[in-house]
Amino acid sequence: MTLEAKEIVVKGAREHNLQGVDLTLPKNKLICFSGVSGSGKSSLAFDTLYAEGQRRYIESLSSYARQFMGQLAKPNCDHVSGLSPSISIEQKTGGANPRSTVGTITEIHDYLRVLFARIGKGHCTKCDRPIEAQSREQMIASILNSFADQKILVLAPVVRNQKGEFRDFFDDLVRRGYIRARVDGEIVRLADSIKLDRQMRHHIEVVIDRISPTKNDRLRLADAVQQALQLSDGSLLILADDDAGKSMILSAKYACPHCLISFEPPSPQLFSFNSPLGMCPSCDGLGEKYTFDPDLLIPNPSLSFRDGAIELIGSMKEMGRWRRHIFEGIAQEVGFSLDTPWNKLAAAAKSALLHGMGDRHITFTWRSRSKVQLHGGTWDGIIPQLNSRHRKTGNSMQRKMLEKYMRVIRCGECAGQRLNAQARHVRLGGKTLLEWEAMPVDELHRFVEETLESNFSAVERFIAVEPVKEIKARLGFLLNVGLQYLSLDRRANTLSGGEAQRIRLASQIGSGLVGVLYVLDEPSIGLHPRDNHRLLGTLEHLRDQGNTVLVVEHDEDTMRAADYLVDFGPGPGVRGGKVVAEGTLAHLIQEPDSITGQYLAGRKSIAVPSKRRPIDLATLPIESHTPIPSFPIAQASKPKRPRAKKTT
Ligand SMILES: [Zn+2]
Ligand SMILES: [Zn+2]
Repeated sequence: MTLEAKEIVVKGAREHNLQGVDLTLPKNKLICFSGVSGSGKSSLAFDTLYAEGQRRYIESLSSYARQFMGQLAKPNCDHVSGLSPSISIEQKTGGANPRSTVGTITEIHDYLRVLFARIGKGHCTKCDRPIEAQSREQMIASILNSFADQKILVLAPVVRNQKGEFRDFFDDLVRRGYIRARVDGEIVRLADSIKLDRQMRHHIEVVIDRISPTKNDRLRLADAVQQALQLSDGSLLILADDDAGKSMILSAKYACPHCLISFEPPSPQLFSFNSPLGMCPSCDGLGEKYTFDPDLLIPNPSLSFRDGAIELIGSMKEMGRWRRHIFEGIAQEVGFSLDTPWNKLAAAAKSALLHGMGDRHITFTWRSRSKVQLHGGTWDGIIPQLNSRHRKTGNSMQRKMLEKYMRVIRCGECAGQRLNAQARHVRLGGKTLLEWEAMPVDELHRFVEETLESNFSAVERFIAVEPVKEIKARLGFLLNVGLQYLSLDRRANTLSGGEAQRIRLASQIGSGLVGVLYVLDEPSIGLHPRDNHRLLGTLEHLRDQGNTVLVVEHDEDTMRAADYLVDFGPGPGVRGGKVVAEGTLAHLIQEPDSITGQYLAGRKSIAVPSKRRPIDLATLPIESHTPIPSFPIAQASKPKRPRAKKTT
């Protein structure tokens, strides 16, 4: 067992204007350094104690690791003992990863991903119906439940929305002994020659059996279900054999049985825009991309498409006949007129022209003098066509001309949400992950509680217990530091210095570290006074976890809450650099030389600048508040370049 020092002892500290300060600080306490600006409090807190903690940490590393970090200069000080690993929580925001958000810094995003992967409700990306995998037993039970003593058809869906004649396929079914199928909603005999339009899309379901399921005749139903699942590769359609035509579709896979699209079962990576499994494929998870901007393409929206609304396309008079009949086909299919001014067109019409119609089948009519010919096809859209032209062109003049109409805009596929379609269609408590993260922290905190109460089954609640505990705790920390108005999707690089500092403070509590010296610079800055006591509660919590919390602060409430105070002064610069008083609040008040003590005693008003400096540290000629790279336990303080001298 190692004996841990109960005190931090500093002797002869002379960094900046410090005049050989000797100081003994109790550990595992909330300590406040006070004094006027430039009195030396930051020089002792950051440039002596924190810097020395960092330096010792580097010294403790192997010489191999040290050569990558250089060497930190020893603070100007005779002796320091009893130091713990130190973490500074400061107000700088610069250097934040542009991809990081409040959710990722606090790790709440990671716990939400786990929660969504485990109990999120998947929905089809095409029709938005719930997707669920069912066991054969569950299917039989629900069929018996819904169709008891009714005549039903058990069908195997084999073709969904596919083009073709399927002649060979029908022949094959006949050879395998099937008699009937439902083709485009109509029951037909497979032996009759079935003629399908090759250019049209069709639905085909094979009739497996026609039965009245009863509990006594479970075996026949089970056989039919089994056969249907095999033939269809995992899905099953039950149809009541009456005029009402009640139906039920079931899937053994994580798939939409209506659209016959199957999905990968969700994993936490599905909800990460940094993972190939989760990122929007159109913008690689960035939420924006360099593409043609409709606002630039259509400089004069009062023109109709026919008259050349889309400048790059020009008017239809100048088009070839083939292109003209393509646009006419699209207009006819969607149901709009090419003569309508662009700004009067419905959104669906604009979207069809610009972004295409996916794999929807369009029948185009080609009229020549002698005859009318129909042909089918799909439409990619003007913007995808232009993008491909931009990619392929080797002509720099042409590229420049195209780029006049391009800029970085929000990704159209994910609408800036950065996740792929499957991830965007998983909901929990009726909301997607992105909707959860768009709520302010206080609202989300309530929502988590209510959802857990009312929306989850007992099993789900059991699965959710661990991640929900972590999520609620971290949301609670954010509430306690007065950040209830932030949402988790807020990007880190848009936060103010005070907000960033308080978020890091909140995440330190979540980290549960013990035996650390935390050094904070004016955490109350920018905080509404009514949230101040909660911030203090957070600092006390950090202390009660077994840490030493050292705060450089002007705020009176903080000074009153501190276990131990050190007042620097008496003046700024050369008139400061000394400890004028130290001890408990009662000590400080007794001390006639301590301006802070006098102020706290109510005898004197303090010489605190009425308008506080935005960031105290910025005015001091030092960089050593910054933690060193890859300090293993300081995950909340961002690694930055240390004040290092390269040793050779
Ligand atoms: Zn679907
Ligand atoms: Zn996207």
